[in-house]
Amino acid sequence: MAASSPPPPPPFLALTLALAVLASASATGARIPASTTPISRSLYHSSDALLRDIKALVGRHPDKLSMDTITASNKGYSTDLFVVTFNHVKESTDNGSKIHVLLSFGQHGRELITSEVALHLLYILTEKHKISGVDLSSFEKMLENLVIKVVPMENLNGRKRVEEGELCDRRNGRGVDLNRNWSVDWGKKEKDYDPYEENPGTAPFSEPEAQIMRELSKSFKPHMWVNVHSGMEALFMPYDHKNTTPNGASAHLMRSVLENLNHRHFQDSCLVGSGGGAVGYLAHGTTTDYMYDIVKVPMPFTFEIYGDETASTSDCFKMFNPVDKTTFDRVINKWCMAFLILFEEGLRNLQDAQVVSQSAVDNWVPMGGDIVERSVARKSSNEKSKLEGLDLGMQELRTYFRLFIISTVLLMFMFCTRISKNRNRDTDEQSA
Ligand SMILES: [Zn+2]
Repeated sequence: MAASSPPPPPPFLALTLALAVLASASATGARIPASTTPISRSLYHSSDALLRDIKALVGRHPDKLSMDTITASNKGYSTDLFVVTFNHVKESTDNGSKIHVLLSFGQHGRELITSEVALHLLYILTEKHKISGVDLSSFEKMLENLVIKVVPMENLNGRKRVEEGELCDRRNGRGVDLNRNWSVDWGKKEKDYDPYEENPGTAPFSEPEAQIMRELSKSFKPHMWVNVHSGMEALFMPYDHKNTTPNGASAHLMRSVLENLNHRHFQDSCLVGSGGGAVGYLAHGTTTDYMYDIVKVPMPFTFEIYGDETASTSDCFKMFNPVDKTTFDRVINKWCMAFLILFEEGLRNLQDAQVVSQSAVDNWVPMGGDIVERSVARKSSNEKSKLEGLDLGMQELRTYFRLFIISTVLLMFMFCTRISKNRNRDTDEQSA
């Protein structure tokens, strides 16, 4: 009996097979498995586009905004870091009475939503993009008391890898977690240590990104620091490397600022506490612990602004970033407003230098309320010169070296001419 050829597949089965083959082919090209969500290009800027928009914004508001590009490299790996400075009434009026705020976004490459918040916040600060419920004149008054430095994409190289398809990568361009590369409790590994997630680098500050951020924090001397991440929703204070918060008045201040923010803006729905205690795992060598322990920032925080717990762990874009327009807009608006309230709370607490009482928490002052004006401790006035010092690269060193050589040669020439003149005069006198 001759083997009969198999019957042709029903049309719908053939179509399904063809689609599956097509899907797997396109997935291979983009290195994205078919089950994962790609970056929503209609919602999210590319890193280049984000930077273009920020530069355009700075160009439109030279009176309020300025931007520095800081480059650093280490063992053949280099990075650019962009710092946008918002100063409402010109730099020259920062005579030490203003509150310094340092905000960093995108320390982890895959958390794209954080950089979108950075861009929108800069728009709000400069162009007052409709903020409902905010009284503009008191908003302006508050901004007059602040100098805000925004790092919109701390991990530019890592972010570019994510844009190329490595959607689950949070590390920098050479595989180091920038939030484990700082020196407080550096390099300690927990039992569940995963090098793909938490590689701390070869030494504290081995990474140029961390080096730049450390210099920036030391020159700017922030009163308030926020490291903005995604993956969950929470308001964290130190410590990340242990299960406790610091002791004393400063910890009390930090906690009351976060609790006020949580109460006023999140209806007490956010997780508040030490990163190490509240998140359920300890993290060693983090930026916020360094900002507290070493830089002595009075209010160092880590904000986690969004997480999708229903997303599969391999579906990283969806896990860390909103994927529909409604959620995207809601997260951005909610967190921009959170920053404005944080500034207000920070100002009130720092200037008042006393802990907010329970009644004050209960009868919170909405944005537009009076801000107590009182002077704060004097800060470094040579912030600008120190920052400029950061930009002194090899180019400048070479110039100084050339100047040094030229002046040495000139001096030697003058010296020799003088000696030979004296000698000639002596000879003339002798012969005379
Ligand atoms: Zn993160």
